[in-house]
Amino acid sequence: MLIQQNNSKTNLIGLDREQMEAFFADMNEKPFRATQTMKWIHQVGITDFSEMTNLSKSLREKLDGRCEISVPEITLDQLSVDGTRKWLLSVPGRSAIEMVFIPEGERGTLCVSSQVGCTLDCSFCATGKQGFNRDLTPAEIIGQVWLAKKLLGEQYKTTDRIVTNVVMMGMGEPLMNFENVVTAMNIMQDDFCFGLSKRRITLSTAGVVPMIDRLKDRCRVSLAVSLHAPNDELRDQLVPLNRKYPIKELIAACNRYLEDGSNRSRITFEYIMLEGVNDELLHAQQLVELMKQVPGKVNLIPFNSFEGIDYKRSSSMRINRFKEELNRAGVIATVRTTRGDDIDAACGQLAGSVMDRTRRSEKFRQKLSEKIQ
Ligand code: SAH
Repeated sequence: MLIQQNNSKTNLIGLDREQMEAFFADMNEKPFRATQTMKWIHQVGITDFSEMTNLSKSLREKLDGRCEISVPEITLDQLSVDGTRKWLLSVPGRSAIEMVFIPEGERGTLCVSSQVGCTLDCSFCATGKQGFNRDLTPAEIIGQVWLAKKLLGEQYKTTDRIVTNVVMMGMGEPLMNFENVVTAMNIMQDDFCFGLSKRRITLSTAGVVPMIDRLKDRCRVSLAVSLHAPNDELRDQLVPLNRKYPIKELIAACNRYLEDGSNRSRITFEYIMLEGVNDELLHAQQLVELMKQVPGKVNLIPFNSFEGIDYKRSSSMRINRFKEELNRAGVIATVRTTRGDDIDAACGQLAGSVMDRTRRSEKFRQKLSEKIQ
């Protein structure tokens, strides 16, 4: 398999339909040649131009001279006891990112990263702790979906649709890497590529208000908002971005996002459960008030711990009490089941620095030997 190369060749995997057609037009080639090539790349999974048999030999040679089809390199591949699979991928610049696949019955959700590290520094998040390195390119973002499709096809021994949903919930803040993420999401949706409907693609954001408006005009996928606190005072501490875009502005942007009769009639609000921090009944009541202002549902996420962090996960009793309080007031609330705990693939545990990886694989081995004993 070809891995990412640092040269001047155009990496065709990262071009959406419009860009691909423009690229082919520059070579005096018809638009349908562009879509044929996209099918070979994304549907068949081919990286070698010589295998694209419905293109003329001269076009194949031309493409081979000017272009490449390359994806991130896999450096670690782990399978959890619950079926969750996690990959550590390396990208140029000695950087690492993580990608997770979560099978749940008919549904298969791929959690994709958008940046190496993150600038937002939310107080409970492992990715934030590692700082920001760089944005991922469109090729590196869609390359994750491409790789997952190929590798899962081998695991499940089928060419059927295994990745049914994509969530931009891995490392990074997708709205801080707007253009590249939109290009990658265009490719996810394209019928010549992965053919996922907008409903099946979810972008999760900590609340970059102006970008929510831009997303609405460019690519109205399902939106999840990492709320985590029902008042500004607390949210300022947990999600520092709140100091720039407070809750009131965020809720207004969410309402604008839902305007114009879209079928994505609700926003998912993610709410991490931190013992003694944001899980009191009073917080639930404040959250109920907020939910009166926007069509939304709440997804409660039990906090996943990592080394060097002081927060604790709320007990199941407190999580249920919180959920009941919301439900009683008519707010739809669910508790996210933690998956892939044994391989540190749960929300907020994706870090991907090499140091961290070494430390965590030690932890993994230790857990494994405890299990064996
Ligand atoms: N930057 C985006 C997407 C990445 S985070 C965002 O903030 O939404 C994906 C989800 O995991 C977010 O809801 C995030 O708040 C949550 N998360 C982060 N750290 C976590 C942790 N330690 N335990 C549980 N969930 C966490």
